[in-house]
Amino acid sequence: MRLRNVPGSREAIAANPMAITEPEQFHGKWNEVFGDNHPIRIEIGMGKGNFIIQMAQENPDINYVGIEKYSSVLIRAIEKCEELDLQNLRFIRMDAEYICDVFAKDEVDRIYLNFSDPWPKDRHAKRRLTSKQFFGRYDQILKPEGIVEFKTDNDLLFQFSLEQVPEANWKLVESTWDLHNDERLCQGNIMTEYEAKFSAMGNPIHKLIATR
Ligand code: SAM
Repeated sequence: MRLRNVPGSREAIAANPMAITEPEQFHGKWNEVFGDNHPIRIEIGMGKGNFIIQMAQENPDINYVGIEKYSSVLIRAIEKCEELDLQNLRFIRMDAEYICDVFAKDEVDRIYLNFSDPWPKDRHAKRRLTSKQFFGRYDQILKPEGIVEFKTDNDLLFQFSLEQVPEANWKLVESTWDLHNDERLCQGNIMTEYEAKFSAMGNPIHKLIATR
């Protein structure tokens, strides 16, 4: 993603009640943030937020936390929420490497990874959000029956991810190399910004669902 610095974005995020600035404080206590016991689903690398905002609008009985590394990107998602009054959505600006400091064992019901950065160099493989190292982190926060859902148009990253699932001792529940032509798996699909862009260019969208 080409990043434009957005002056003042850090300050604007810190001042916005939808953004949780010290998320470690809520480790094991995210129900207090939302004021209910609804399941918590997170999107890691949410970008400008289309997907998670629409999910939160369509599912008021589920709580959502969007995680994004860069303030210049996260601020765009926060701006989109200004008129929406979504009580079931919060945002965190952080690197997902530290996700286990923020969520406790079994605290997360589902993890969404959409169009994650490919990190094409082999020596950077462990930074990919579908690497076995990241599955190890998800293992520590996800409920036993919880799932990871991953979408991408990147063939090499998808192949890598399909291989990492068993490497990490997880199981593949579903997978497709052409989501938009798979009537069953595409049911209820919500497009992300990248998905809309790449599918308009004719790229097939790949998806996998993994569990333990
Ligand atoms: N999910 C969005 C979509 O599908 O339109 C954005 C996709 S964009 C290619 C990947 C996003 O993930 C970027 O905004 C990037 O900053 C974020 N990201 C990458 N690695 C991350 C990490 N380790 N922790 C948090 N966010 C990350």
